[in-house]
Amino acid sequence: MRLEGKVCIVTGGARGLGKAMVEKFAKEGAKKVYACDLNEEALKELEKTYENVKGYKLSVTDRKAIEEFKEKVIKEEGKVDVLVNNAGITRDALIQKMSEEDWDMVIDVNLKGVFNMTQQFGPEMMKAGKGSIINISSVVGIYGNIGQTNYAATKGGVIAMTKTWAKEFARKGAQVRVNAIAPGFIKTPMTKDLPEKVIELVKSKTVLQRMGEPEEIANTALFLASDESSFITGQVISVDGGLVL
Ligand code: NAD
Repeated sequence: MRLEGKVCIVTGGARGLGKAMVEKFAKEGAKKVYACDLNEEALKELEKTYENVKGYKLSVTDRKAIEEFKEKVIKEEGKVDVLVNNAGITRDALIQKMSEEDWDMVIDVNLKGVFNMTQQFGPEMMKAGKGSIINISSVVGIYGNIGQTNYAATKGGVIAMTKTWAKEFARKGAQVRVNAIAPGFIKTPMTKDLPEKVIELVKSKTVLQRMGEPEEIANTALFLASDESSFITGQVISVDGGLVL
């Protein structure tokens, strides 16, 4: 049991990578895993399956609701050990065709959402003197991608915030670690509608010649959440099967 006694929060926890992380953390003995998402039905299913999972309807864009959620968690549990900023969306288009609305929406969820959550929970971890924040970036945030100006900007921004917070939250000797995971192409609802041609191209460019499974990201998140990674902070771990070498 690698997360025994730990209180964890996973945003976007209802499906895809978030769900895989919630399940992994629950099975690894976390005291409580708060799965935050907009999809209440899916959250209820998770609650039914795992007694240590609590679903919470929350948008990472709603600053007031996040503050209320933080107060509730601190009141109920007294602490937060792990925050995974996973919620994310895509609204792809070439820059010529990208609407301001699609730019704003992706920035609001993927970039500001990570800021909103961390602004509430990071200081709580610092007060407690320990914690692990895991930001889900993307290979696209490192290398860019055609049609993803907005998304790439957020995922690059997440890496910059990761390094900044690794420094900020470790002040005064606090053992608060902040790391990012940069997944390659993983089989989730987000990637299921990609054209077959794109999927084949991605596979052919990947050293391991396949897409990743959500559990392969969850395993990395588990390592970063656990005390096994206690001397790792400010890092970006690519989990992409060797997509870019
Ligand atoms: P997904 O679309 O399958 O799941 C995302 C979840 O986030 C959904 O349950 C959705 O309801 C939730 N969500 C959306 N907006 C929200 C909001 N405002 N507040 C709270 N929850 C919200 O996506 P996924 O593939 O599981 O991706 C998870 C994360 O991993 C994202 O940040 C994504 O950018 C990143 N990522 C995914 C891949 C991939 O190949 N799947 C690759 C690199 C990075």
